[in-house]
Amino acid sequence: MSETETEEQGLMRQSCRAFVDDHILPFIRANWQREWDMNPGARLPPEILEVADKIGIRTVGVPEEFGGASLDPATEVQTFAILGEEIARGDSGLADKLAQNWKVSVLLRNYAAPHLQEYWFKRMVADPQFLLANCATEPGGASDRWLPYNVPETAMRTKAVRDGKEWVINGRKQFISNGYDAKLYVIYANTKPGVGMQQGTSAFLVPRDTPGLIIARCNETLGCRFMNNGELVFEEMRLPEDHLLIENDALPKIGLYFRPGKILQAAKNLGVGIRAFEVASDYVQNYVQGGRILIKHQAVALRVADMATRIEAVRSLVKTAARAVDARDARADLLCNMAKNYASEEILKVVQHCVELHGGNGMMLEFGVEKLFRDAAIFLHMDSTSDISKFKIAKLLFPHTAGKYAGPEA
Ligand SMILES: Cc1cc2nc3c(=O)[nH]c(=O)nc-3n(C[C@H](O)[C@H](O)[C@H](O)COP(=O)(O)OP(=O)(O)OC[C@H]3O[C@@H](n4cnc5c(N)ncnc54)[C@H](O)[C@@H]3O)c2cc1C
Repeated sequence: MSETETEEQGLMRQSCRAFVDDHILPFIRANWQREWDMNPGARLPPEILEVADKIGIRTVGVPEEFGGASLDPATEVQTFAILGEEIARGDSGLADKLAQNWKVSVLLRNYAAPHLQEYWFKRMVADPQFLLANCATEPGGASDRWLPYNVPETAMRTKAVRDGKEWVINGRKQFISNGYDAKLYVIYANTKPGVGMQQGTSAFLVPRDTPGLIIARCNETLGCRFMNNGELVFEEMRLPEDHLLIENDALPKIGLYFRPGKILQAAKNLGVGIRAFEVASDYVQNYVQGGRILIKHQAVALRVADMATRIEAVRSLVKTAARAVDARDARADLLCNMAKNYASEEILKVVQHCVELHGGNGMMLEFGVEKLFRDAAIFLHMDSTSDISKFKIAKLLFPHTAGKYAGPEA
């Protein structure tokens, strides 16, 4: 436990670390082929989520009145960061699976009607395999949503139209974490054509068994493979009117709840880097070339120093950004984007050192180190691309000039 962590955070860090050391890492070492099973449901055995449930980390974010493990609101996002980092040290796919539950729970407890919260949170608490998903990205591209240009041209193509006491939704979503196996989805759709997307996008709650919801496929991803990323199609999908979470101004309202999501991305990414450092440290202290263990070669020692420095820089920025979100600091959005983007670029360099230090072993599936490289590469593309994150940072710094470049030609 670090000196800035609360007692609750220290205990959660310890139990996550034990979960990773006793369950996740041994499972992955013994079953390295499992992530390549082309039956997505067979990749992660149910026991893993059952243990996550037993140690109380599956339902953080769910209100206590429904049986969840509520965190101290004053430090909630910092605690999310600790959980994300520690679980991703074992497996970033599993961390992403759980992170969707954490961040979507926050959204539901703020925007779902009380009777729907009671209905869904109780089911989620009772079922260790219950997963949530947040669906924004569409085949037309997601970057416009993250910038956001706020012009009608960038509106979501998924459309929702009111029909009496129901909403009728048509469209599709792609690249969705937990999209293949979630039991409850939050989706975003256009409800007001012709206005900027900040004024015309609504959020809806969609149970998995809703007629017209088609789980079209599970994507075969490069990394994070224990999270089943999916594609959804909505064909004349009908929802009762109370399943509307936010009408028209969902994006500005929900923006606040996307911040913990960015912190979680950066923290999971940090966990991958920490694991890369652990395995590289172990290797260079034991593997002999040129008559010496690797660390005695100066070029190797320099790489190790570089890894450690990048990890500490990422750790500091994640901590600063998470604290800013909890404190509702005016710079929180800026720092979240910086942390997410910086982590993705720096940790990729950390894992590159790690696989290079392993030589040929670093490229062998059976050896297991290449998994960290694949897992780290995914972070460049989650929750906005590197370039888009940088545009957002510039736009937050210079709102009146940067980012004024989309819409109809003048
Ligand atoms: C593993 C994984 C999990 C994901 N999970 C989720 C999820 O749970 N929910 C969800 O909604 N989405 C999810 N996503 C989607 C993710 O948010 C998007 O992939 C990401 O935001 C990029 O959007 P895109 O793929 O549509 O790329 P595009 O927007 O099509 O961008 C393509 C390229 O064009 C560049 N580009 C686009 N617009 C501009 C511009 N105006 N100026 C300059 N360059 C530009 C981008 O930087 C990128 O290089 C996930 C993605 C991955 C890989």
